[in-house]
Amino acid sequence: MNAIPEPSVIVMTGASGSGKSTLARTWPASYRLELDAYRELVSGDAGDQEATDDAVFVLHTVLEARLARGMTCVVDATNTRADVRKYLIEAAHAYELPAVAVVMTAPLEQCLARNSRRPANRRVPDDVVRRQSAQIAAARPGLRGEGFDHVVTDDRLMRLRLLLQRAVDRVHAHHQVDGDHTERARRMLAHRFFGEDLAPAFHWTQLRPNHDPVGALAVGGDEITLAYRTWYPDPLDWGFEAQVPCLGGCSGPAWVPVRSPMDLLAVYDDDFPEDVVRCDRCTAGAAAREAV
Ligand SMILES: [Zn+2]
Repeated sequence: MNAIPEPSVIVMTGASGSGKSTLARTWPASYRLELDAYRELVSGDAGDQEATDDAVFVLHTVLEARLARGMTCVVDATNTRADVRKYLIEAAHAYELPAVAVVMTAPLEQCLARNSRRPANRRVPDDVVRRQSAQIAAARPGLRGEGFDHVVTDDRLMRLRLLLQRAVDRVHAHHQVDGDHTERARRMLAHRFFGEDLAPAFHWTQLRPNHDPVGALAVGGDEITLAYRTWYPDPLDWGFEAQVPCLGGCSGPAWVPVRSPMDLLAVYDDDFPEDVVRCDRCTAGAAAREAV
């Protein structure tokens, strides 16, 4: 079986670091019931093991609510314990949906290596990874007997295209434009530059022929004005500049390059080196005085 039936309850089964979450992300976000995410939701820390009971409670609540609506659930947790799997199988069958076990096949060494690269709070002790891996190996032959309607290994699933298509759909959704290629490119540019957090707060405000496009990063009563500079000959030098008050002795606007969220924060905090913040007029004035 290469395709997984939907709706269904898809039970990811694998040790920490076996690639479960990467595979789970090939399903739409709303399908994914991720134990780590619920730990973070209830405790602020995805690695807080003391929050597991509360996180499991949230997971079961979301599971029930979705199954009652006949919607697919992808349970992204290690699911190495038989009693945990039993609960999920019974929940699926209570709503007359098939239960599908997706067994991760990454070898133990790979799980350990991936686990060691994780941030400290997400890292599981090596002996736990070893134990999980052994539990899965022992459970694998009996998964059908436990009540799973389908058992499939991750190496049989071809889901990269689905992930790519979803990424494309997301780009389209974020940049819904009326056919204008330039406008579309501008929106994509802002999205790429600002990232997921800031992009929704950014919009273009002045788009005039033969002028650099100007936009604003605005939330509530706060606003940073930004222009996108394209006059440099090398496109690799193109980028945003933020408008700040000139510190050259006049009250005019000056522009400073911003290449990252860190630069934007410095602009907001007035934390730019003073000698950088000069309007063209003050820069020209200083150069003239030096020439004298
Ligand atoms: Zn000035």
